[in-house]
Amino acid sequence: MTDISRRGFVKGATAAIATGVGVGLSNGGINFLYPKEAFANEDSPIEKKYSYCDMCNHVPKCGIIASVRENKIVRVESRDKYPSTPLCAKGIASLQELYDPHRLTVPMIRTNTKDASAAEWKQISWDEAYATIAEKLNGVKQRHGADAVLFFCGDPKEPRGAMQRLATLFGSSSYGTESSVCAAASWMCAQMVFGQNSMGENPSDKSASCLVWSLNAAWSQPNRYGVLYRQKERGCKFVVVDPRITPTVTGLADIHLQLRPGSDGALAAGFINQLIVQDLIDKDFVETWTHGFEELKTYVASFTPEKVEEITWVEAAKLVEAARLIGENKPGTLLTSSKGGCHTTNVGHFQRAVFMIPALLGNLDVPGGLPLGPGLPFDYAASTKAFQLEDVYEAEGFQQRRHDREDFPVWAKYYKMMQTVKLPEYVEQGKIRAGVLLGVNSMMWPNTPLYKKAIRDLEFSVAIDYYLRPVTHDLVDMVLPAAMCYERSAAFAIFGRKIFLREPVVTPAGEAREDWRIILEIGTALGYGEQCFNGNVDAALEELLATTRLGITLADLRANPQGFEVPGGNKDPKKYEAGGLRPDKQPGFNTPTGKVELKSRVLEDLGFEGLPVYEEPLHGPLSADFKDYPLILNTGSRLPYYTHSKLRDLPWLNQFMPEPVVRLSPQDAHARGLNQGDAARVFNHQGEVTMKVEITNMVLPGVVDIFHGWQQADINLLTTRDFDPISGFPPFSNGLCEVAKV
Ligand code: SF4
Repeated sequence: MTDISRRGFVKGATAAIATGVGVGLSNGGINFLYPKEAFANEDSPIEKKYSYCDMCNHVPKCGIIASVRENKIVRVESRDKYPSTPLCAKGIASLQELYDPHRLTVPMIRTNTKDASAAEWKQISWDEAYATIAEKLNGVKQRHGADAVLFFCGDPKEPRGAMQRLATLFGSSSYGTESSVCAAASWMCAQMVFGQNSMGENPSDKSASCLVWSLNAAWSQPNRYGVLYRQKERGCKFVVVDPRITPTVTGLADIHLQLRPGSDGALAAGFINQLIVQDLIDKDFVETWTHGFEELKTYVASFTPEKVEEITWVEAAKLVEAARLIGENKPGTLLTSSKGGCHTTNVGHFQRAVFMIPALLGNLDVPGGLPLGPGLPFDYAASTKAFQLEDVYEAEGFQQRRHDREDFPVWAKYYKMMQTVKLPEYVEQGKIRAGVLLGVNSMMWPNTPLYKKAIRDLEFSVAIDYYLRPVTHDLVDMVLPAAMCYERSAAFAIFGRKIFLREPVVTPAGEAREDWRIILEIGTALGYGEQCFNGNVDAALEELLATTRLGITLADLRANPQGFEVPGGNKDPKKYEAGGLRPDKQPGFNTPTGKVELKSRVLEDLGFEGLPVYEEPLHGPLSADFKDYPLILNTGSRLPYYTHSKLRDLPWLNQFMPEPVVRLSPQDAHARGLNQGDAARVFNHQGEVTMKVEITNMVLPGVVDIFHGWQQADINLLTTRDFDPISGFPPFSNGLCEVAKV
């Protein structure tokens, strides 16, 4: 048994490495020495194994061929004939993460109180860890009920199925994920409009146009960007809506609509108005298959190009031209994102307006348009409703007990996971008192200190992660080491209608274990051994496969490394005509009216406005505080070399942005006497951070662009807790701030 403080842990790790073979790299203040274990004898034979990179979104995306020598990966390459583009910088740097000397490799329990400025840790065995977790969680359940324990699955997303199953077995309705500040607002809006989750779809060879709304795929989804670029070369026309001049804009856009962050709702209303005014809509489709068209038409009529220019800063003529380009080049598709798509106080309305655009053009469920219809039996994280025990959830009335139900009734209607943005309130009110927190980060929500306090105030919490991350783990009671991408078995990799088995190609570092195994073993310790397969991941995945009713087993997938093609799938166009989109097999869409809802019945029933109305951001050019903080704060977007707060300690990636920067226009920099590289304070009524100035034409005058996730300059000290009442999403895209030289 070893007593290890955090500082000692890091120092100890580095010292141990320094005595090994080690290769020293130093960049931007990072001392990175490969551990001895990362090296293999060069004379040993190499075995090539299939795996998947999950570095950009933490579900498996790009296919990998791993060259393995003596249980060490010595090379990663893009997998031939796999539906992905060549590996991006993060994929190539995945080996630096795998062999990062700072990895968490043993379970640890804190030895000092949470009042201390930093946690001190003691190594414990897995058995001790599980016994403690079971005692603490069962104790909270006994005293306060099962709902007082939060089961949270952050990053990676793959263990969601196991975590939700565990929450339900435990009897807790408090299951949450990072999707409640990521993309789920967008999925929900698509549900309200045409009855199916969607973030849009890549253009196919039959697509004549594509409307990209606030998605910078070149940085956030490199695997997708290659596909888009090939369609551009083929001749597909692109309109890109983005407040910044991104590489996606310069690479794809025939027309770029560079709007003021947070004014998307007005632009979407103006776009719809132009489709109507220019007589571009599909009248037959609209008449037969939509609900609320006349009211929508009346509402958007006032959003003339001139008025929209005033609100959004997008030139009137460009809006007219963009609507014409998309309206005249049919069929066309749509792509949106979690970023601009979800991070405003108006998302529940405006994102619906965006999804109405392909519907009004008759581009739903036609070749080259936005496909709808039955997909695979898996959800986003490759799990199934049956595996997640949603029948138990329904039968035992979990929904009625949810803490978030009154705060966000629309969200609660669509999701069997809680909206977590009110965690501070729920902890303060004693509704949540303990947490199993996988891949959690206290900096992921707006106004970070409140979430830090909430996590610290839990009676007991255990975090599961790859690293010891002081910004969050200084607030918890226990940390457990998780196996990484190439080390774990997990739910499956899915592309189109193909399923691939995801198996480890090397054994986990130290005592690290697979996320699925950890969750199932916690469940076993809590008394659900049989339902948690006594911690056996293979058995759990076998059960998961069985719940798909596809009739395939792990052995089938193992025997077929090129993937299993799921038979069936209705590719017929216009399935809404033949009853292919509704569970009752009736013609129409899976909405309360059976039509595409331009006016939402669900929203009206729950007391909201049904039309996609535009509302100004609470903090913006029209609010009282604009005179004190006259720059619009746009944050929450992705970089090509980091994933949120992750990966920035890897030298191959850190060299691209070694420290936090505030990007602002030459005009705004000049007005404040700021030069390239200056240190600057970024501040508002709520907080302040210091960053390096980057002067760029990428952002509009009047706007600053700041990447999130820097521990030393956490921009969520400045973002506010003004939640969209429909989705609960925070306004990462539309805050206010000022910048001044230090
Ligand atoms: S795009 Fe890059 S980070 Fe994402 S899965 Fe592919 S290689 Fe990995």
